[in-house]
Amino acid sequence: MNAEKGVMATSAAFSPLPLRVPDPVVTILPSSNMAQRVVWSPNDAYVVTMSRVAEIAGMARVMIWKDMKTVAAYVGSYNARPEEDGVACTGDGRLWFVNRDGSVVLVAHPEMGGGVEVLSRRFASPHVFAGASDGSIFIQAGDMCPRVLLVATGRSRIVSSSENCTGLGVDPHGKSVVIVSDAWVAGGNYVGTLQLRPLPHLKSPVIRRASCGARFSNPVYSPDGSRIAVGCSKGHVHVFTSSALEERDWISPPRAPSEILALAWSTNGHLCAVGMHKMLLMIDMRTGNTIRIFDDMHHDVVSLAASPDSRRLLVNTHGVSADIAEQKHGAAIFDFGSPNFGTDAATHWADASFG
Ligand SMILES: [Zn+2]
Repeated sequence: MNAEKGVMATSAAFSPLPLRVPDPVVTILPSSNMAQRVVWSPNDAYVVTMSRVAEIAGMARVMIWKDMKTVAAYVGSYNARPEEDGVACTGDGRLWFVNRDGSVVLVAHPEMGGGVEVLSRRFASPHVFAGASDGSIFIQAGDMCPRVLLVATGRSRIVSSSENCTGLGVDPHGKSVVIVSDAWVAGGNYVGTLQLRPLPHLKSPVIRRASCGARFSNPVYSPDGSRIAVGCSKGHVHVFTSSALEERDWISPPRAPSEILALAWSTNGHLCAVGMHKMLLMIDMRTGNTIRIFDDMHHDVVSLAASPDSRRLLVNTHGVSADIAEQKHGAAIFDFGSPNFGTDAATHWADASFG
């Protein structure tokens, strides 16, 4: 890694046409107050918001939305830091989250308002988990001895007993999982490390990479599984190949060093939506250029989820003026009108609902 490199180089031979992200139509999800985590189901059937329950410390509410209406709400989150708790969908559209008692819960048909099925024993302080395409999930559990666990249909096994796991990313094609942890270094700082664990052979050699000297946020695989984007607390977007974790420079958006909090790829892998302090950026991943800035968001953009065609983006906050306080603090769907955050030719505006 070379600290001199700040922006991805654009070779003279490859000069892609500049992309333009149009103004989105923003629709607020009512009563999705202070959402900390948002998820778009891979089968496009529903979206999920996970919000703090203001009255009860350490509690969060998981809400399922279809056609802009709530179809189900569950109270989850055992952890004292609901913003780190996870909800995840597997490729077939099932939803998983950590229940208040520390067990992992499965909802088979969230869009139908289905009931929950408790899948596991209780874990001590479970948090941070992400879905895998094959019906398994990964969680981190344990305050004193944190471990990354693979949980599948009621059984669990330890993937990693690694240090201070702070984030997980799972390959949409199920080939690997990438684990982010913090390592204590001289000088009193934490530095992020990434470890790549090939699946399903968890005994395969683990590839590790250190950060630029900052902490990493949650890693996100590109839709084709070839790249992993991960933000850092210095405001970079680091891009690694998912086979050997080779870094292809990093992108330093304008207004850094604000921390990168959330990332979402476009379906074609050309764009990343980037969440920062009260700001949403669109970055052309082919050039490293920031091509659109939404800098009037009500809150920090801590979570992003794109629809499968990436025409729409679910954001934990928005910048629309809203008379009702809870709507101002709600999550919102940004509809760019065509796939890949509006950079594809427009298709049918009439196709405006999800689910
Ligand atoms: Zn960095």
